[in-house]
Amino acid sequence: MTQMIDGKAISAKIKEELKAEVGQKKEEGKEICLAVVQVGNDAASCVYVNNKKKACAFVGIKSLAYELEETVSEEELLLLIEKLNQDEKVNGILVQLPLPEHISEERVINAISPSKDVDGFHPVNVGNLCIGRKGFLPCTPAGIIQLLKRSGVEIEGKECVVIGRSNIVGKPMQMLLLRENGTVTIAHSRTKNLKEVAKRADILVVAVGKPKFITADFVKEGAVVIDVGIHRNNENKLCGDVDFDSVKEKASAITPVPGGVGPMTIAMLMNNCVETIRN
Ligand code: NAP
Repeated sequence: MTQMIDGKAISAKIKEELKAEVGQKKEEGKEICLAVVQVGNDAASCVYVNNKKKACAFVGIKSLAYELEETVSEEELLLLIEKLNQDEKVNGILVQLPLPEHISEERVINAISPSKDVDGFHPVNVGNLCIGRKGFLPCTPAGIIQLLKRSGVEIEGKECVVIGRSNIVGKPMQMLLLRENGTVTIAHSRTKNLKEVAKRADILVVAVGKPKFITADFVKEGAVVIDVGIHRNNENKLCGDVDFDSVKEKASAITPVPGGVGPMTIAMLMNNCVETIRN
């Protein structure tokens, strides 16, 4: 029987654990505050920001909302970030991406103090991940490691193939699997013989951004398949980068979409916020 890796249940458990930890810290007089900055009112960003605020309320983290006009200048945004960097009461700063075209995401990410960068996107945190030092981990790949560990999937010594090399998913995923002693291959749009490469995987992580791209013929019998993709079809139904119905027949364990990787991202953001007050 194929194991369904239940991201909804695992993320709920992590949030419960964090809530208990935050409750204890409050008794010691420690509070956590996350500043959430949103520019404009892109519909998807509004949903993500609301979900993050809800998760903060559940866990016991104070959230401050900064809703800026779509036309705000880059300079004004950078000034706000600097103010939040200096504010001792603010533990974490999150700027919801994407930003309008006239604002450089790179300059904005670089402006956030690495010690408050709970998304884990600042080059200092990326560098720390690469050289195995402590730092904030990007939420989606960190969530995938938790999904694997909490589902009893051993990573050490396994052939891991990550398809996709984005800065927010593929590359940090590769580093985290390596940190867990997996043997890691990263594939991308220029990879030759992708099917053969993918079929080597005991653990296959798919982040290509193409609906149902990975079919059963990319998957080794008994592999664990993690689907990062999120797409909405014409009937408003969600699906991933993996053709779930055919792949589940071959995989030993698989994440569904929705209810797999998605819920883990916010749980790990909450974990990064709590990390700001751990020693
Ligand atoms: P991205 O920046 O678009 O990167 C896609 C990657 O896939 C690129 O590295 C690209 O290769 C590779 N690729 C594209 N076509 C390919 C092909 N035919 N064969 C092999 N590789 C191919 O995407 P992303 O930001 O990593 O996101 C990937 C998916 O995950 C999207 O569906 C996104 O919505 C979803 N996502 C979900 C969460 C979550 O919380 N669940 C979080 C983030 C993203 P090149 O580098 O060579 O172009």
